[in-house]
Amino acid sequence: MANIILLGPPGAGKGTQAKRLVDERAMVQLSTGDMLREAKTSGTEMGKLVAEVMERGQLVTDEIVIGLIEEKLAAESGGGFIFDGFPRTLKQADALAALLARTGQTLDSVIEMQVDDAALVARITGRFTCGACGEVYHDVTRPTKVDGTCDVCGSHDLKRRADDNADALKTRLMEYYKKTSPLIGYYYAKGQLESVDGLAEMDAVGEAIAKILDK
Ligand code: ADP
Ligand code: ZN
Repeated sequence: MANIILLGPPGAGKGTQAKRLVDERAMVQLSTGDMLREAKTSGTEMGKLVAEVMERGQLVTDEIVIGLIEEKLAAESGGGFIFDGFPRTLKQADALAALLARTGQTLDSVIEMQVDDAALVARITGRFTCGACGEVYHDVTRPTKVDGTCDVCGSHDLKRRADDNADALKTRLMEYYKKTSPLIGYYYAKGQLESVDGLAEMDAVGEAIAKILDK
């Protein structure tokens, strides 16, 4: 059992690799982005505020996301946790360390997914997903076989994220470089950082991550 963080800019492929690990190793994915998008559909006042911040591409407050993670850490276990999109600030990283220490758990590795900015922009601005099964597609690199229909489950409910547009992406990248990228140095100094080439084929990235986990 291992607890790991997937670290990298928006569009690095964290979610894709996390889903693989869930399927292959029965790990539990904790995506704060997914949790926040769920909160948004709850229709509460808090959900509405969160949605506005996300649509602009800014980070939600540390208090909110730390609270979400705290709930999940108490409730679930399995083959280990994959932290996907969390922590995103130094304060969140410290909070995670404290939460894990409190429950007697360890953080086994932090896997940085390296990609260059031009690739991110291209990946994100063409991205859409199936609302029914979660499969991820891309206008250019991975279109559906039949226009408007999910290859996997046949659903017609294909959608784009509200923050997957050029404007919000600019803000998301800026937030990443200002607030999240310092975590690379932080975990390197702690001796926990591993890096993989996020521009490689999806399967090759998966294998690189598997190698780290099996070490
Ligand atoms: P991506 O990695 O592609 O940017 P996510 O789904 O991880 O997508 O996050 C989408 C948005 O959710 C972020 O731009 C931010 O507004 C919010 N968010 C997700 N995780 C966090 C976090 N740990 N701290 C603050 N905001 C977060
Ligand atoms: Zn589908």
